[in-house]
Amino acid sequence: MDCIFCKIANGEIPTNKVYEDDKIIAFNDLEPKAPVHVLIIPKEHICCADELNEENSAIVGYIFSKIPVIAKELSLDGYRVVNNCKENGGQTVFHLHFHLLGGTKLSGDFA
Ligand code: AMP
Ligand code: ZN
Repeated sequence: MDCIFCKIANGEIPTNKVYEDDKIIAFNDLEPKAPVHVLIIPKEHICCADELNEENSAIVGYIFSKIPVIAKELSLDGYRVVNNCKENGGQTVFHLHFHLLGGTKLSGDFA
């Protein structure tokens, strides 16, 4: 499957990693929309939030259990987590990911 985030997850495409374990990887967004803009993805390919179900959604809880760890590593004092789902939700890379934004006082706009 030709998925850029799968290639990042399996090391085929090098990236600026901020966290990695056996299930997830977090790396800097290529086009940051805030002083800190990290993407957190499951290594398993799931297209989007709309494809989550009882069988595969435990990874979302796992990701959220690691967000405070990643935020602490990045010295974030408050942050925003964003998920864009499918084209009408603004999703451009179709491998589930959460944007972690911070490093400033964020405005009310969605990223
Ligand atoms: P979304 O619009 O929610 O699908 O977000 C996709 C994000 O992936 C955008 O913020 C892009 O800047 C980012 N992106 C695309 N390709 C890469 C890459 N190779 N490395 C890091 N970030 C990327
Ligand atoms: Zn993928």
